[in-house]
Amino acid sequence: MTLLPFKDLPAHKPRGFVPEGIDLGDWPQLAPLFDALESRAPKCGSVADLEKWLVDWSELEAALDEEASKRYIAMTCHTDNPEAEKSYLHFVEKVEPELKPRKFRLQQAFIGHPLRDRLPKQRYEVFIRDTQSLVELFRPENVGLETEEAKLTQQYQKLSGSLTVIFRGKEQTLVQMGRYLEEPDRALRQEAWELVGNRRLREADKFEEIFDKLVKLRQQIAKNAGFANYRDYIFRKLCRFDYTPADCTKFHDAVEKEVMPVVRELQAERRKQLKMERLRPWDLAVDPLNRPPLKPFEQVGEMVSRTQTIFQQLDGELAGGFQRMQDLCLLDLDNRKGKAPGGYQSTLAEARVPFIFMNAIGLQRDVETILHEAGHAFHALATRDDDLYAYRSAPIEFCEVASMSMELLGNEFIESFYSPADANRARRTHLEGIMGIFPWIATVDAFQHWIYTHPGHTRAERSLAWLELMDRFGGDADWTGYDKTRAYLWHRQLHIFIHPFYYIEYGIAQLGALQVWANSKRDKAGALNAYKQSLVLGGSRPLPELFSAAGARFEFDNATMKPLVELVRTELKNLE
Ligand SMILES: [Zn+2]
Repeated sequence: MTLLPFKDLPAHKPRGFVPEGIDLGDWPQLAPLFDALESRAPKCGSVADLEKWLVDWSELEAALDEEASKRYIAMTCHTDNPEAEKSYLHFVEKVEPELKPRKFRLQQAFIGHPLRDRLPKQRYEVFIRDTQSLVELFRPENVGLETEEAKLTQQYQKLSGSLTVIFRGKEQTLVQMGRYLEEPDRALRQEAWELVGNRRLREADKFEEIFDKLVKLRQQIAKNAGFANYRDYIFRKLCRFDYTPADCTKFHDAVEKEVMPVVRELQAERRKQLKMERLRPWDLAVDPLNRPPLKPFEQVGEMVSRTQTIFQQLDGELAGGFQRMQDLCLLDLDNRKGKAPGGYQSTLAEARVPFIFMNAIGLQRDVETILHEAGHAFHALATRDDDLYAYRSAPIEFCEVASMSMELLGNEFIESFYSPADANRARRTHLEGIMGIFPWIATVDAFQHWIYTHPGHTRAERSLAWLELMDRFGGDADWTGYDKTRAYLWHRQLHIFIHPFYYIEYGIAQLGALQVWANSKRDKAGALNAYKQSLVLGGSRPLPELFSAAGARFEFDNATMKPLVELVRTELKNLE
């Protein structure tokens, strides 16, 4: 494909099962491979046969995954190219729906295999546990309900994405309006904030209606699968074997007790610096000293070379990995016409190398993003040699430890981008951001626990539950006069609609990353070594083991959170 920023990359290991030259976007060519695996499964007469069968299945999965990734990368790099879009949509619409039921049959064949329990336990227990859970949760009567759910989430995305306002004479999306909250002019900030809030409020009934339907559907899905409520069902579905709803409650309580005092302290300081009597919701994003934005670089080439310098100071092996990505053109980072917005890291699963996509424009946010995505990329590189496709990626709770740790560790050398004073300002912004996100994560998570354990609740009760959480975790901002906006604030959190319960992962991972960083303050080389060792494990071990390999405890209680918050607080004081 000529639309890709990189040239053809060889598979990490030569194919042994998937034929060379096969068109991976053509289902009639793919079906025989699934047939072959399916009919071979019962004939695996030894543990070695079964392991070989798993490796062949992995090879097929990786080839398909890479095909999908390449089509996605080509499309996001060239949104104005109709061929690229067509090719991606063909895969999503014509190939993926065929793959799903066939993959499920392979999973069933594996779980039902008589030799399954004879596989080496340490090596396969996580794979077996996850696959078994997926097979057990499957209910044919849920397939249609899940399609309905997907349609409703599309409605949510369409509605959210369609909202615009007229501001300063031009039509702007609500996302675009976010930047005005960083403007020093307070009246302008208020005007922009009110405009966005009111625009959303006008659609409040529609958002509520979509959500009512989603909750009902999800309860039915859980019931069909034999669960008392959707919360318990989704914990299984998300393979949360290593923590419980009670652990999440501990997280909420710990955030309230340990983090909220620091958030209030930071808000009080902000209020003083801004010389205001009270902070209003539109005063939370502006620089409290009215300074212009940080300017870490002009050209994307500078961003790459300065990031390279950071990794060289951090670790030779990581620096080597980042250099290789540059040599293989696995970075597409500049913002140009025709590129999709945002940033992501994707792995070419057969070549077993990572790719990073960004739209860098010269902001501190770009520096945070490149460090973050590089952390994911290092994770992908570290797991290259594992032949079990499923183990080359970890659960999100740990993937984000890889990336968030890299933000914190990389920030230690951020003078590569800044004068000493600006470097400290960048660090401060980053750490304040970490403190600020914990309460929001707790709010979003606790809200969903309430929703799905209170079946039959009314809209009014739901608002009340949300407002109680806003009282607990909302800090000291003064919302007087904006009660309705506050009560419906959750409408803007896409995860609540689209990826239910998927959010606390970021909080869990941040606790892991802060521990890696805390360790590095005491023992730089040791902490980095543990970090690298933990990445090599990929998804092959349960979460507590991945955390412990990285030198972190897999606990979300007060005792774990307290010293970390204390460290951030001290650091913030030192950076003043
Ligand atoms: Zn990430």
